[in-house]
Amino acid sequence: MECIARKSLLYKTKVEYGDWTINHIVGCKHGCRFPCYAMMMARKFGWIKDYEDWRKPKLVKNALDLLEKEIPKYKNQIDFVHLCFMTDPFMYDAEKDRIIPDIKDLTLKIIERLNRDGIRVTILTKGIYPDDLLNTQRFSKNNEYGITLVSLNNNFKEQYEPYSSSYETRVESLKKLAKAGLKTWVSIEPYPTPELDPDAAQIEKILEKIHFAKKIIFGKLNYNKLVNYCGRNSHNWKNSQEFYEAIARKVIDFCNTNNIQYHIKAGTPLSNEDHRNIFK
Ligand code: SF4
Repeated sequence: MECIARKSLLYKTKVEYGDWTINHIVGCKHGCRFPCYAMMMARKFGWIKDYEDWRKPKLVKNALDLLEKEIPKYKNQIDFVHLCFMTDPFMYDAEKDRIIPDIKDLTLKIIERLNRDGIRVTILTKGIYPDDLLNTQRFSKNNEYGITLVSLNNNFKEQYEPYSSSYETRVESLKKLAKAGLKTWVSIEPYPTPELDPDAAQIEKILEKIHFAKKIIFGKLNYNKLVNYCGRNSHNWKNSQEFYEAIARKVIDFCNTNNIQYHIKAGTPLSNEDHRNIFK
């Protein structure tokens, strides 16, 4: 796998449920077309040329050396570190049907290194969680493991998230961690409209599948981003406000009934009910 060197690694993020974060890979083999904010930013900053380039991830080869220097410097300011907002830490290789080994190894070493200094980690993937994380001698029980899941419809997946892990495998790998007593969460955002996913009105099906998770984040799709990303005029679904309000209400009711913490993202209907960072 191609590698690059960086001058720094840890940084404080302004993402609403974030604190500090690390992106130890540039690019993502998942190549989601629904829209990938990270890819749009990487292109804007000149880190990648195009979509094909984005799908050829590059490892930050000096990530662990940088951590050794940065942990003592920032430790007292850090509440938790999120992996990752700009790539995927347990990236799946659809051609080989496995987690990419080099990425998995580096991600595990980074989590282990942060945990050794008492820094907990939140993780988000559209890949698969490895069983290594069940080793609570090596990894802190305070880490919080999350997946993104915005649909269970395989036609939607084929079109918008073609190279990520299957929904079934993704959920099962998270459930395995939950069954072992580890903390799990699910990001349901950006959530599609029924125009993009005909099953979108039935969010109950997704919620039932992930009932074991301790936290849920829900957010609407930003149309402008989708239009820019696809490079063509997208739809403009007139009833989106009502639709997202109804779906957000279902998420809130489900979470309240099942004792799950939730966060409705800013800009999504009903988000004003909840201002706290659910990872703090
Ligand atoms: S998994 Fe995340 S970072 Fe990777 S392409 Fe999809 S949206 Fe982008």
